[in-house]
Amino acid sequence: MDTHCHLTYKGLDEIKDQVIAEARKDMFGIVTCGLPEDADKALHLSAKYPDFVHVTLGLHPTDVLHMSDEQIESYKQFITKNKAKIIAIGEIGLDYHWIKDEKDIKKTKIVFVDFIYLAKQLNLPIILHSRKAEEDVLKIIVDNDVRNATFHSYTGNITLARQIIEEGYYISINTNIINSKNSKKIAKSLPLEMLLTETDSPFLSPFPGKPNVPQNVKLVVETIAKLRGERFDEVNQTLLENCKTFFNIE
Ligand SMILES: [Zn+2]
Repeated sequence: MDTHCHLTYKGLDEIKDQVIAEARKDMFGIVTCGLPEDADKALHLSAKYPDFVHVTLGLHPTDVLHMSDEQIESYKQFITKNKAKIIAIGEIGLDYHWIKDEKDIKKTKIVFVDFIYLAKQLNLPIILHSRKAEEDVLKIIVDNDVRNATFHSYTGNITLARQIIEEGYYISINTNIINSKNSKKIAKSLPLEMLLTETDSPFLSPFPGKPNVPQNVKLVVETIAKLRGERFDEVNQTLLENCKTFFNIE
């Protein structure tokens, strides 16, 4: 199962029906993440493929800086209104790769906490974006007593990864595991029960010149199984169970 991708984002949006038809042959499901610009589209897509495409709605930290307080507020109302159609809040979080100005960081922190409380209010798990900000994201969710969250496309170090799972949060491994020693180390040494799998399609393609697609999640599972010296089927089954538990889906 792909627990994080952007099916309605440009690059994938144009070919999504074809990609879904292909993915349906051997995947349990796809979780697509809608952001303010494509939230509506994501909900429509899920309505078209109700048992296969699941939606999360979030606000990427870089989007926060392009929106007024009123726009953010009305987006929160939109999410609340569509609560029954979504399975998580996210991605939300912090990004110190793109956001370096102190004032901007402060604003993204305020909005992040605001969305944590939205997730609590709606009783939904949280998909975290934490690029180069893993430590602060962990601190904020612990301080705010978040119970159910996953670090999507985690690229932090292994020491922090251990702390994250000790706190009971999941770590999501994406297709960059193919070329990342750090991701390999994490996927090999952490308990399999605390890992999720994703592609972040259309981003992070393992095949240069081609968009990433959800079915590439199979490569992630294969790599994890090989690293751990375990059978693909068993690893695949455990990882699928993790996804179902996390999102509370059947
Ligand atoms: Zn994403």
